[in-house]
Amino acid sequence: MGCILRLRQWLVVIGIPLVAGGGALLFLPPAAAVLVALISTAPGTWLLLRQLRAQQARSESVKARLKQLIFGLEHSPQAILFTTASGLIAYANRNFYELIGHAGENLTGQDLRQYKDIGVPATLFGDVTDAISRGEEWHGELYFEKAPPDGRHTVTTCKPIFNEQGEFSFVLSLIDDISDEKVFTQRLITNANYDTVTGLPNRVNSIERLEQAVLAAKSREADFTLIYLNLDRFKLLNDSLGHSEGDKVLNEVAARLRNAIPSNDIVGCLGGDKFMILLQNQRDETATRTALAVKKSLEEPFTAQDLKITASIGMSTFPDDADNAPDLLLNAESAMYSARERGGDSFYRYRPDTANRAATRLALETHLRYAIERNELSLAYQPVISLAENRLVGAEALLRWRNAELENPGPDKFIPIAEETGLIIPIGDWVLDEACRQAKKWQDDGDTDFIVAVNVCAKQFEKGHILTAVEQALAKSGLPAQCLELEMTERLLMRNDSETRSIIDQLREIGVRLSLDDFGTGYASLSYLKQYPFDILKIDRSFIMDCQTSEESQSLIVAIISMAHSLGMKVIGEGIEQLEQRRFLRNCNCDMAQGFLFTQAIPADRFTRWADQYRQLQSAQSS
Ligand code: C2E
Ligand code: MG
Ligand code: MG
Repeated sequence: MGCILRLRQWLVVIGIPLVAGGGALLFLPPAAAVLVALISTAPGTWLLLRQLRAQQARSESVKARLKQLIFGLEHSPQAILFTTASGLIAYANRNFYELIGHAGENLTGQDLRQYKDIGVPATLFGDVTDAISRGEEWHGELYFEKAPPDGRHTVTTCKPIFNEQGEFSFVLSLIDDISDEKVFTQRLITNANYDTVTGLPNRVNSIERLEQAVLAAKSREADFTLIYLNLDRFKLLNDSLGHSEGDKVLNEVAARLRNAIPSNDIVGCLGGDKFMILLQNQRDETATRTALAVKKSLEEPFTAQDLKITASIGMSTFPDDADNAPDLLLNAESAMYSARERGGDSFYRYRPDTANRAATRLALETHLRYAIERNELSLAYQPVISLAENRLVGAEALLRWRNAELENPGPDKFIPIAEETGLIIPIGDWVLDEACRQAKKWQDDGDTDFIVAVNVCAKQFEKGHILTAVEQALAKSGLPAQCLELEMTERLLMRNDSETRSIIDQLREIGVRLSLDDFGTGYASLSYLKQYPFDILKIDRSFIMDCQTSEESQSLIVAIISMAHSLGMKVIGEGIEQLEQRRFLRNCNCDMAQGFLFTQAIPADRFTRWADQYRQLQSAQSS
């Protein structure tokens, strides 16, 4: 009887209604049912037998449904727990038992509270019990610290369940394991902020700290010195001894720099063998003494081979040499070049006459103003290939600037200046127009669903400019909106303002595709991905570059792809240079790829020829 009662309660809990009157007969064994039928009066016997058969059939179907449901619960990806109102375990699925370290056991009927010490978090009995006793649902993160192998983070919902009479009878707990996502997000944050070789703050992080130091010094009317340090002939060392020895040296240099300066000062890695040191409240003689100590700290030979390492050191002072972070850095860097020009192993203070870099910047800006009207801009196209079918699906349009006087600067050099000066607005419009026009031409020539991707930056979003620019480019060219893809970086999302969000939504309404470029290099966490309606995520080249050698990169790539897929996004791997990298990405179910393996970005006419040849090659291979 107890068993029948429990089954009845279960059926109520999982939503199968029971007819109260039929309950007792429902669970009678078939023989007893026949007996009951025989002792009935003759005219009623036939009727009773029919009823019994029907009830039996119903009972079989209810049992079958129940079996199916329990099977479903057992195989649910969530951990599921039912406890009675008095705290006894009524049912737990296998994931729950695994979570509390009791895999393979059945603790039905046991009091959950006695399992406090083996990993059920104490909160479960505190906050959760309070909420449940008020008849409310509880939702939050719970950490099962003793779950194998070393604790699991979960998002848990505990819900009171009431019976038909409105009495509180069960608690249903649904537990999602989010440990992998947590670890992944943490890795991304670390990756985004710290240099992987030295563990020092990376370039972005260092510059941010420099900006903070400028603000703090301005408010306190204090001064400070910035040191820019570059190792001499490090490339030679790296090439001759190999990268792993090179990395060991960089690590050791980082440790020595840290020890050579006061502990509250900051050392950062600006990339490779370039370091930045921020000396708070130091200038003139004090700063010079520290610079000498830094130089001296490198004098002891490095590694087993007794390597002698020297550095060129440049210094600039706030506020005398510059009153903002970019110029301070630029000035310290040009001072470092002056030290290098004198043969290295020395340090040099910034002087205005060392400011040829600032002059270069000014020249770039001046020339950029006339680049469009002088017809110096053009687009190069890099193909995007679908990995499963090796099919050409479209191309990324990349801006090129032909200016012999400035030696054809690359976009990494001039786009930041175009952004700062606002010149990116007319330039960005030109890029959109030209890319859409060319894509439509390729479509008209037969490549009907060719997609062109255009890079856009934060400045273009100001006052919603991008919306009109996109609409006009589509209207002028006749390119369908879904064939234009806009690539934006995590930096844009960092603004996290409602205006950007609304513009992104409106772009979505126009129908263009949105992709997140250089994923993994900035600050975007998964929460950003969930918030914005991106169609595509582009994994940055830096992950692909060492995916053959670094397990860390491999696992990040796998995690990024599976997370993106679970959010309904497609993934493009950037910077594929080797067959091995393509194979790895294809095995990880990455959807598309681009990189020098296929071709560098090339002008439109060359692209047309390349695409024809590529298609011919593919069809020859498949036939
Ligand atoms: P991005 O959007 O991430 O573009 C990819 C960059 O990686 C391109 O450099 C491309 O030539 C390079 N690349 C592609 N495959 C490989 C490879 O296999 N190996 C290596 N080593 N590099 C590869 P590029 O053309 O110099 O562009 C640099 C960045 O400049 C772009 O990065 C993008 O952020 C920006 N940019 C380029 N054109 C525009 C534009 O029209 N507007 C804006 N706002 N930014 C642009
Ligand atoms: Mg891009
Ligand atoms: Mg990119």
